[in-house]
Amino acid sequence: MRVSNLVTKTSKNAPADEVAKNAQLLIRAGYIYKVMAGVYAYTPLGLRVIENIKHIVREEMNAIGGQELIMTNLQPREDWEITTRWDDKVVDIWFKTKLKDDTEVGLAWSHEEAIMTMMKNYIKSYKDLPVNVYQFQTKLRNEVRAKSGIMRGREFVMKDMYSLSTGQEQHEIFYQATIEAYKKVYDRLGLGQDTYVTFASGGAFTQFSHEFQTICDAGEDTIYVNREKGIAVNEEVLNDETLATLGVTRDELTETKSAEVGNIFNFGTDKSEQMGIFYTDENDTKVPIFLGSYGIGITRVMGVIVEKFSDEKGIVWPETIAPYKVYLVSIGAVATQADALYDELTSRGVEVLYDDRDERAGAKFADAELLGIPYRVTVSERLIADHKFEYTPRNTGTSELLTAEELLAKLS
Ligand code: ATP
Ligand code: MG
Repeated sequence: MRVSNLVTKTSKNAPADEVAKNAQLLIRAGYIYKVMAGVYAYTPLGLRVIENIKHIVREEMNAIGGQELIMTNLQPREDWEITTRWDDKVVDIWFKTKLKDDTEVGLAWSHEEAIMTMMKNYIKSYKDLPVNVYQFQTKLRNEVRAKSGIMRGREFVMKDMYSLSTGQEQHEIFYQATIEAYKKVYDRLGLGQDTYVTFASGGAFTQFSHEFQTICDAGEDTIYVNREKGIAVNEEVLNDETLATLGVTRDELTETKSAEVGNIFNFGTDKSEQMGIFYTDENDTKVPIFLGSYGIGITRVMGVIVEKFSDEKGIVWPETIAPYKVYLVSIGAVATQADALYDELTSRGVEVLYDDRDERAGAKFADAELLGIPYRVTVSERLIADHKFEYTPRNTGTSELLTAEELLAKLS
């Protein structure tokens, strides 16, 4: 992609009302566009990042047997009334609306009731279980607070997965597999080091649910961590009982700000009993389906990555999710040579953002840094005279002069 063809432009300033660093940088670089508080559009550049995150999540969910589908944003009131979750006192973030004939519908903030209603149609016998399905879906939530940029949107992308099992035993196998798959996801996203499987409240038949919390100053949560033991506890369950169960003492734990990047939850048979969703077992007995629910905040993850991987000059994308691998800068009358390098890299499958604009070198370098593309390659008259290219990784900022062969070997 040539920068001269990009639909977005970088800017020096973010909107005055935008307080979150992630949104400020993403808006200035042109990855997102702020529509209103908590509501952001994703530009062609931003969408590439989202798709890269989704690609990693999709591979890991498929690897444990998840099957992708897509549910709907419009949800019937009845499905949520049975479980009491239509009630605004029970779920306080609903957006609701009406059809022309006054039928009430909800705008999806979650899909547990939706998946159960849908699967009731397909699951009759123990032979039909387990079912593990997931989607990438825009969730709509009327959040009170929207000051964390894309880390807390009123409209945001979530990966939500649902496991329907014959009982606790079958459920547990998938639940554990998901914990391992999530660890791989956060590793691949570059967040592995700072992400903890955290003990949190809730869950049917279990003392805890598990959150995936990433240490992050801009996070809205507080967790208590012991790095050596690899233990983290959400403040909501930090009590003597929890400490005893986990075998740690309070003074072994350090209080840390964090962001919840994922959440896995065991609903047990509560929902299927409320909704009357049963399968027949080997003895022809009707048994309620066991439900698990597993979220990853795709757009929140993108925000957390910007919070953690950025400096005073801009974003520093991990290579696995960067929108392009190389930012190619041409300086002076070198279009022929820069075009040739762009074609060569592109033909080798390297994704290049080519700054072909008639701009000062300083302005191009500043944009390269703001955008956070992992490798900057510079072509100039002086470099061409020496048969060299300048190669500058964004994370170190240290330049090297390389021959064409050396450069291609590094990048392909
Ligand atoms: P939180 O405690 O942060 O409000 P939650 O417990 O309501 O989140 P879930 O319903 O479990 O979240 O959603 C699954 C995941 O979706 C969360 O772990 C988080 O990463 C992400 N998420 C939740 N709410 C938002 C939001 N408003 N904007 C962006 N991502 C969100
Ligand atoms: Mg939560």
